[in-house]
Amino acid sequence: MMSKSEQLFEQALQVLPGGVSRNTIFRKPHPFYAEKGEGCYVTDIEGVSRIDFANNMASLIHGHAYPAIVNAVSEQLTKGSCFTMATESEVNYAQLLCDRVPSFDKIRFVNSGTEAVMAMLKASRAYTGKAKIAKVEGAYHGAYDYAEVSQTANPSNWGDIDKPSSIPVAVGTPEKALDDVVVIPFNDIERAINILNQHKEDIACILVDLLPHRVGLIPADNDFINALYQWTRDNQSLLVFDEVITFRTNFAGAQQNYDVKPDLTAMGKVIGGGFPAGALAGSDDVMKVLDPTQEKVLLPHSGTFSANPITMTAGYAAMKDFDQAAVTKLNDLAKYAKEQINQAIAEVGINACVTGAGSMFRIHLKATPPNNYREAYISKQESLLINKLLDHLFDNGIMMINTCSATLSTAMGKKEIDSLVASLKDGFEMLKPDMA
Ligand code: PMP
Repeated sequence: MMSKSEQLFEQALQVLPGGVSRNTIFRKPHPFYAEKGEGCYVTDIEGVSRIDFANNMASLIHGHAYPAIVNAVSEQLTKGSCFTMATESEVNYAQLLCDRVPSFDKIRFVNSGTEAVMAMLKASRAYTGKAKIAKVEGAYHGAYDYAEVSQTANPSNWGDIDKPSSIPVAVGTPEKALDDVVVIPFNDIERAINILNQHKEDIACILVDLLPHRVGLIPADNDFINALYQWTRDNQSLLVFDEVITFRTNFAGAQQNYDVKPDLTAMGKVIGGGFPAGALAGSDDVMKVLDPTQEKVLLPHSGTFSANPITMTAGYAAMKDFDQAAVTKLNDLAKYAKEQINQAIAEVGINACVTGAGSMFRIHLKATPPNNYREAYISKQESLLINKLLDHLFDNGIMMINTCSATLSTAMGKKEIDSLVASLKDGFEMLKPDMA
């Protein structure tokens, strides 16, 4: 007898490429299908309930079906979901976010993180009149051609560390696009500045994620960010942050932990309160490129569903309740989790470590934390072991992100962390002979 999930996947294979709508959720032999979520628990269509440490790839800050969001959105739904008009909800939400973050004078809402990063890069070009984008090797920024280069699972394509290659993710990416991306190593001031100096006249912006997941979920050094900032001031360029995932790590985003203010910030995930969302925000001066009241609009920009009242209402409810006290409480819970995991690693005596900041952390099957993308590289052997660990956790009622990363929600407490740590510890014991 086939399970419900197997049956559904068979049908899915007929109508969706590879049976999925997004590759992130693909699993062998088939994806898992969710039935419902409540707080920090998700129940699949087989009726099995698990603690959700994935939170739709870090986008749910209060877990599932958070009552304040359900109520606010239900009310808005009865009034309509989108109009060819502005709504009060976007003004209220813009006010909330601009009051929250010192670098935000103005904000424009879009529909995803990819779109936010794309609009941010285009705004940087429109403002500076330059074409090139500098980005950190290996960092993920969504699917815009210029943002997605330089992530490859094949180390032989990386190129020299003094000049990392601008390699495409998708076959057919125009060479011209690749030529307009300047790739710099993470947290390496000397090499990064040397590379930037070779393109002094042409760089519209330096794009940085302050806690890049694929670079190992290690924070950018304050000195690194200061050096990039200074370079942008000296070379009529912009410093722009991708806070699509990191906005949840502090009250005013991860940028709160740094000395300098970015010119622009892209957001997504948590700001949608569980609905598709993105935004770019920044200084009055730069955001003016979007302003339709100007005689010449440097970046004409629209979006059919941008700032729709469902997302605005949900986002407002989510972020209003993710106040300073909630941020501190959640980050303290993540600190507790990391301490407990480190203790489990020491007790088992396995080569593993945990990285991360704010309410996110990642477990590596490496003795010491990586310092950059190349060190964060997961070998075939490590990948097999991580998948074994993830399967073990899953079978024990715990769902993680597929890199063995976790993002917490305010619906969680020590009870859920203790369950995670107990299962992890058993998992480490299970892997130990394989790692000897
Ligand atoms: N930037 C970062 C740092 C991300 O983590 C993501 C999504 N994982 C994106 C951009 C793209 O966001 P979206 O999937 O909403 O397009």
